[in-house]
Amino acid sequence: LFAGETEFVKGVVAMDGLPPADRMEVCFAGRSNVGKSSLINALTGTRNLARASNTPGRTQEINYFTLGDRGYLVDLPGYGYANAPLPVVEKWQRLLRQYLSGRQTLRRAFVLIDARHGVKKVDEEIMSLLDSAAVTFEVVLTKIDKVRRSDLDRALDVTRSALSKHPAAYPELVLTSSEKGDGIATLRSIIAGIE
Ligand code: GDP
Repeated sequence: LFAGETEFVKGVVAMDGLPPADRMEVCFAGRSNVGKSSLINALTGTRNLARASNTPGRTQEINYFTLGDRGYLVDLPGYGYANAPLPVVEKWQRLLRQYLSGRQTLRRAFVLIDARHGVKKVDEEIMSLLDSAAVTFEVVLTKIDKVRRSDLDRALDVTRSALSKHPAAYPELVLTSSEKGDGIATLRSIIAGIE
């Protein structure tokens, strides 16, 4: 699945720029630096695919990639930029809210959480948005190669209890390392199973 099937389509800055809603899509969200680009690259088996979304000027865009002709993989802008000016933050929060609640073909969201840092306030906010929009989501812990087993167990407990408050959340976490390859096959098969 995916290898060679994934191409950048476009970056979107407003709802009227979205591609036609003619196939299923899944989206990826997470704080900046959570490892989202690395994960998307690992998933799709390409090296630099999601790099586009990390270049200056692209960071506030919703980036669309194809999953063959079956669907779209949607890379949402990283949130939690400490230094972004308020109007910029507000503009993209509005777009995000419109996208999550208004995109008929959005089937699943993946919320990425750094295994070292756990669930932060901005993560809680996006999960609440997903609850209100009734978009089911999976929480993906990233960079698990960077934490000791004992710390990981603690992070899992804390994250699971945070998830239990969110009706739209899948109870099972996906543990990943883009560096080592953990969890990549699991994520691929989750996406492959989405109609
Ligand atoms: P993004 O801002 O969410 O797109 O994050 P990036 O994918 O650019 O990753 C941010 C930093 O974390 C980079 O220095 C990556 O090399 C590093 N990183 C990403 N995924 C992993 C991982 O699974 N393991 C380790 N050790 N580092 C990672």
